[in-house]
Amino acid sequence: EESLPRAWLKRWSEQPRHIVAISADGIEMTAEELEEKSAQIAARLAGAGLSAGDRIIISSEPSMDLLVAYVAAHRMSLTVVPLNTSYGPSEIRKIIQNVAPRAALVDDSARGRTISEAATEPIVVVGCDVDLPSAALPSLDLADRHTPALICHTSGTTGTPKGAVLTSGNLLASAESVRVAWRWTPDDRLILALPLFHLHGLGMGLNGTLVAGASVVILKKFSPAAVAESSKQHSGSMFFGVPTMYHRFASSTEIDALRPLRLCVSGSAPLSAELHNQILESSGQMVLERYGMTETVITVSNPYEGERRPGTVGLPLPNVDLRLANGDSGEIQLKGPSVFTGYLNNPGATAATLTPDGWFRTGDLGEMDPDGYLRIVGRSKELIISGGYNVYPREIEELLQEHPDVAEAAVVGCPSAEWGETVVAFVVPTTAGFGNDAELIEYAAARLAPYKRPRRVVFVDALPRNELGKIVRSELISN
Ligand code: ATP
Ligand code: MG
Repeated sequence: EESLPRAWLKRWSEQPRHIVAISADGIEMTAEELEEKSAQIAARLAGAGLSAGDRIIISSEPSMDLLVAYVAAHRMSLTVVPLNTSYGPSEIRKIIQNVAPRAALVDDSARGRTISEAATEPIVVVGCDVDLPSAALPSLDLADRHTPALICHTSGTTGTPKGAVLTSGNLLASAESVRVAWRWTPDDRLILALPLFHLHGLGMGLNGTLVAGASVVILKKFSPAAVAESSKQHSGSMFFGVPTMYHRFASSTEIDALRPLRLCVSGSAPLSAELHNQILESSGQMVLERYGMTETVITVSNPYEGERRPGTVGLPLPNVDLRLANGDSGEIQLKGPSVFTGYLNNPGATAATLTPDGWFRTGDLGEMDPDGYLRIVGRSKELIISGGYNVYPREIEELLQEHPDVAEAAVVGCPSAEWGETVVAFVVPTTAGFGNDAELIEYAAARLAPYKRPRRVVFVDALPRNELGKIVRSELISN
């Protein structure tokens, strides 16, 4: 098994009648059907003139059509470029011009028009069902481990999203390592309510399911009720979420839906130890937190068996080498088979990700405890330097969140002539109308070193977050 499609085909031939996917409205698809349908779609893409190495945009809400199109594209060795469905025309234009795709599969005709207009060469734009005439196909598993299989854009938390080029080998290695680490078997049913234009949903959710020969229930949109209902109806065994989803579960009467699951995983953003404990107390579910990024897929995970340590992302996966720049703290640097080949059309940014001795620089800051558990303390770009001292926003956010009047907090550095930067906290209060900033400043002052204390508290209704629930700090700073 050199490539992702080859691993999939092997599973399907072993268990043709196995249900691989279930749609939000309960329609089931077997391995055999996915094999046939993806071959049909591949034939139509070939009929439209596409061949191995071409880039294809896929931009759609989660659906069975998306799954089939995604599989078809991999089987033809096209390079899949997922496109965020919430992007507006100017964001779409930038990506299309950089990627130069030959085709785009979309579930929204207005987005399709924007894509056509943005392209400099004519491109084929169709619905995800690819309603086109077919052509004959020579072979459907051309890929090898070096085939560029996916160009996934980073979330854009620290700047413009960058297109990370991942090979079929990168994707297979990461899916395979979590399959083993999380004891993923064909009996598993994953309840998937993540968007399918980031690696969390695509690389873990879809690729993982297909490599494990398991089943996935594809939901259009997350809500605790939707997850609870489909999990009950389809006997879910696993759930993958981002911390904001667990946060919504924690304040929902549907939290009991997590109880019967075999495994709940959290990633993409930090899960506070407080929320971890809250979920454990109310549902008995010990959420497994792991760490990854678009450029490296998943590299660190709490153990399936053994202690899942709240507030940490666990231990490096078996095939990953990990070091911290200053020994037991500092920037997290990695090597491993899932680390990407570079950013599309951006050799400068690619070169900047590598240390002189060839390690990938994550830009995340970590601390390693004596047992080897890694704690993400923040990102180097988000580090606040106040009066020459380093301040990690996460530490202050977690402290503020323990205050009963604080539902959520985000901390940023604001330029200050005197200190370089000062700490400013944006706070969503538990009860609307709470506005006692002096109380929170005092609370923090009693518990933190002077240079870490927020100098200003700004009350907001909600924090600006992207689709994966990551806080978009740049929007706060410009406030
Ligand atoms: P950009 O690179 O465009 O600024 P981004 O880094 O947010 O955006 P992604 O690749 O989607 O884009 O996210 C990876 C980042 O998410 C990691 O570098 C890390 O900062 C954060 N992250 C992922 N999992 C966790 C986790 N369990 N705890 C804390 N942070 C996490
Ligand atoms: Mg990043």
